Amino acid sequence: MRDKITVSKKRWAFGLSVLTAWGAACIAMAQFGGTLGAIVGGALFTVPLCSLGEWLVHGVLYHSSLPGLEFIQKIHHAGHHFALFPPKHYVQTSGFPFMRFRKPYVPFTMSDNALDNLLTMGSQVGLHFVVGIPLIVTPAWLLTENVVFAASTLATLALISWLLAYVHGAIHTPGDRLIERMGWFQWLDRHHYIHHVDLSANINFMLPLCDVLLGTNKLALTPEEAARVPSFEQAKPMAKDIPAGKDIAPQATPAIVR
Ligand SMILES: [Zn+2]
Ligand SMILES: [Zn+2]
Repeated sequence: MRDKITVSKKRWAFGLSVLTAWGAACIAMAQFGGTLGAIVGGALFTVPLCSLGEWLVHGVLYHSSLPGLEFIQKIHHAGHHFALFPPKHYVQTSGFPFMRFRKPYVPFTMSDNALDNLLTMGSQVGLHFVVGIPLIVTPAWLLTENVVFAASTLATLALISWLLAYVHGAIHTPGDRLIERMGWFQWLDRHHYIHHVDLSANINFMLPLCDVLLGTNKLALTPEEAARVPSFEQAKPMAKDIPAGKDIAPQATPAIVR
């Protein structure tokens, strides 16, 4: 499994320039568009920066070992990717969508009670929200001093932070949720499976803009990867975009924990 995420300085400069230009346009919309412009501009300002926030949280905090925060990498890298959800075991139906992240970490397990589940989901939501305060809301306020614009960025950040955790949990623990029938969810599901095969790609979980800007977006497995791991259909035969009764070679079907 490849796991080294590399982005050149030029690519960072390009990506950050695009985000800056977009942010400036949204601020202009807020300054000259009245209350509606501030609300819409705040949301449009926040979405691309949430993409940057999730790229940084996932690519840097979750997948590289920062001093003092090694436990986060251990939980995500060793726990989520290698122990609980390797490609041959992409889904679980434990009853709870989030892993247990309290000590002792090993053996890594899914939550078996509502409190552990809530703690893990809350930590993921909270982490993305906290990163978004200095990255999005503070500059939004300092650059405009527009209360409506800043409030719009805060509300958008809160919604996306929650969605990030909820959708990721839903992807790995399929059930009968409404969102599992939606096209965007099904696209994200297949996109995220590629990340579970190639840890250096598809760092964005929900908003792939920064993967595109920074060159880490990957739309398909290489022939070598495809030969080595189950196809998405084999890894998640109960995905809602796979027609019922589709014939999947039994010898290649991965074991699924029930
Ligand atoms: Zn995952
Ligand atoms: Zn990951």
